[in-house]
Order: sequence, then C-alpha cells, then structure tokens
Amino acid sequence: MSNRKPLIAGNWKMFKTAGEAAETARKLASLVKNEKDVEVMVAPAFTALSSVAEAITNSPIMLGAQNLFWEKEGAFTGEISPSMLVSLGCQYAIIGHSERRQYFGETDETVNKKIGAAINAGLVPVLCIGETNTEREAKKTLPILEMQMKNGLDGLTANALSSLVIAYEPVWAIGTGKAATAQIAQDTHAFIRSWIETNFGNSLAKSIRILYGGSVKPDNVKKLMDQPDIDGALVGGASLDADTFGQLVCF
Ligand code: PEP
Repeated sequence: MSNRKPLIAGNWKMFKTAGEAAETARKLASLVKNEKDVEVMVAPAFTALSSVAEAITNSPIMLGAQNLFWEKEGAFTGEISPSMLVSLGCQYAIIGHSERRQYFGETDETVNKKIGAAINAGLVPVLCIGETNTEREAKKTLPILEMQMKNGLDGLTANALSSLVIAYEPVWAIGTGKAATAQIAQDTHAFIRSWIETNFGNSLAKSIRILYGGSVKPDNVKKLMDQPDIDGALVGGASLDADTFGQLVCF
C-alpha cells in the first residue's frame, strides 16, 4: 500500500465562461467538502481562474492552470507567466497536454522549460505524456514515453522534481470513450515509475504520483484506481459536470 495521496484533476479545456466555471466549482465544492483521502484539482481556462479561486475558497479543491509560459515577464503577447498564475491562487499547472502538442506546437523542449519555470514559481507541474494510436500500433509506446520524460525533465534534479506529477494520457484514449484497460494503464505506469527510479532514484520513484488520463468515467475509475501504480486521474469530459466529477472523486 503506497502512502501517495491520490489526485483527481479536472481539465476543463476551453469550456465555460468565468461565471459558468464558478458555478460548477461552487457545486463541486459542496459535493467534496469533506473529502480528505483524495486531493481534488480543477484547471479552468485562464479567464476563469479568478472566479473559480473565489468559488473554492474554504473548500479542499485546488486550482490549476492548463498551461503557462516560461519567462517571468516581458514582451510575449498573449502569454501568461507562472507568477501570474500563483498570484491568482494556482497551485498546479498542467504542462504538455497532448492537445497543446498537437495544435499549438508544444515540444518536449518547450515542456522542459515550462516544467522548470513552474517549479521555480512554486507550482506543482503535471507533466502529460502519452503515445498516439499509430505509435502504439507500431509498438513504440515505451520509447515514446521514455523520450518525452527524458527530454521533458532534462537538466532537472530529483530534488527539484519532488512535487512533480506525471499524467499518462494515451492520445487514443482522450475524448474517445475508449479508456485504456486497467492492465494496460498499470503496466505503463509501472514502466514510468521504473524509469523514474533508474533516472532520478528510488525515493522520487516511490513518492511521485502518476495519474492516468483518457476517458475516465464514474464507471471505470475504481478499477483504474485499484492498480498499485495508478495514483489518480486527469479527467477531461467527465469533469465538466459537477455531479459526475463528484462521483469520480468519491470513487
Ligand atoms: C484530458 O483532456 O486530459 C482527458 C483525459 O480528456 P477525457 O477525460 O475527455 O478523455
């Protein structure tokens, strides 16, 4: 039995206005107000961070951002710095989500800069990694994950990474309704943990939380969470509705 506290995180992507997000967050807060055994985080759009921060005051829910830029400040039109997120009450930042890699040119190199910047600002980075369907069929899953971790964490020490969360999100499972089986997810998480052990040592490997993401729903969460190397979930679609997400949190 590990002593890693599970984390259930909701990625609200580009859904919900500031008001809608606050309403969902308020409802969620009333559903999970006594939750102590699981950490809960929601990551609304930047425009809703402030209203959600207010809505979850005095609740156990944590606030996360969906992305950040690595510079502290400057002429970077349209970007958001880590300290801006901290000033709004963010504790977490999702980094390298597959949609950012697919649509916005995110690479392992930019992910690496963002992870370092998040840590420097005191944010907990949630590093997203995962293979596409083509890569899985070509039996390249493990080398792809290895490359994403090697390059994404390049130059960072085990000490710096003590708060790091990794989210294994097979791209073929995101938003498709086809979650990985608990066995596939467990085997992959075990690989990720052993890679961390080889490269950053036993202590980080034991403490690091590895989340599964990809079509997690109330009816499959328990089986996934029962696996020894699955320490939580990163949830997209099913996190948008407070009642559904509330059920997920109380798996
Ligand atoms: C995600 O966007 O990180 C995700 C896992 O989405 P979904 O739960 O909808 O598959």
